[in-house]
Amino acid sequence: MQLEHIRQRLAALGAKTCHEDRVLRAWLQAQPLDAGARRRQAQDYLPKAIREELPALAADLEALARVHSEHPGADGSARLLVRLGDGQAVESVLLPRDGVCVSTQVGCAVGCTFCMTGRDGLLRQLSSGEIVAQVVLARARRPVKKVVFMGMGEPAHNLDNVLAAIDLLGSAGGIGHKNLVFSTVGDRRVFERLPQQAVKPALALSLHTSRAELRAQLLPKAPRLTPEELVELGEEYARSTGYPIQYQWTLLDGVNDSEAEMDGIVRLLSGKYAIMNLIPFNAVGGEDEAGEGAFRRPAWERARHLARYLHQRRILTKLRNSAGQDIDGGCGQLRARSLAEDPS
Ligand code: SF4
Repeated sequence: MQLEHIRQRLAALGAKTCHEDRVLRAWLQAQPLDAGARRRQAQDYLPKAIREELPALAADLEALARVHSEHPGADGSARLLVRLGDGQAVESVLLPRDGVCVSTQVGCAVGCTFCMTGRDGLLRQLSSGEIVAQVVLARARRPVKKVVFMGMGEPAHNLDNVLAAIDLLGSAGGIGHKNLVFSTVGDRRVFERLPQQAVKPALALSLHTSRAELRAQLLPKAPRLTPEELVELGEEYARSTGYPIQYQWTLLDGVNDSEAEMDGIVRLLSGKYAIMNLIPFNAVGGEDEAGEGAFRRPAWERARHLARYLHQRRILTKLRNSAGQDIDGGCGQLRARSLAEDPS
């Protein structure tokens, strides 16, 4: 179900935009759809025909996405394995400090060589309703003030649905626009469309290396933008929105963790409105869970050295662990295990 179908269904019953907004707001707050109408206050009024439709609509919205299993992590995060209406599964992650990371596709066509999700290619797009439903599931468990589109899938490959979800979350959903984080490997369509949106999200760009040839190997099906082009496009967006670009760099031992690569970051990002996130590669059992490449996680001390190295060269750098890394490692591994246990 797309978000526009919810509005169309209500409009067919005579709903005005304000009625549609009331119902959507209740859903986004994980409340009963007639929560306002029950208070019987004038501003919460819903016409009878709409009230009568709400139980059926609520059942359809619930069927969009259900939590199949929940896996709390030691760091305050929790991974959710979410079953969609057709039985497909995606992952969402409840993040510490009122955030949630949602998926935008089942599988992914970019095929990053260090990522479990990219292994099987793209299975299907998530509808805008399914994307928002993950936020509703999270809100039924905790407050959510930040949504990052960084779970399974490449948001740029499902752009219309992701932008519809962002638009609703940043309006009726009450989430601050810079707390909606669109994460992408970089695609020119993103830089064309995002500046046109009423709700302009913050942007996270997956860089991973400063060398174009290595990037083409690590992200084999990403659009062929050089690191320089990517940073140039990112900088333009950062200056126009007033929020910095978050650059993502998965640290792979012996692949992109050299001082020469760090010098490449300094060359690219000096003077830019940017934050560099160094994220040591994460794999169950320590290595090679994500692909054929035998990737390894660098020692934490090495990662700290690299973060200090960048700091000293005036690059704002954060060293991060991916959330819930004690729970089946990186994104896609929970789903992979579930499929291995129950291929149906
Ligand atoms: Fe897709 Fe992201 Fe995995 Fe790359 S890292 S294959 S873009 S889900």
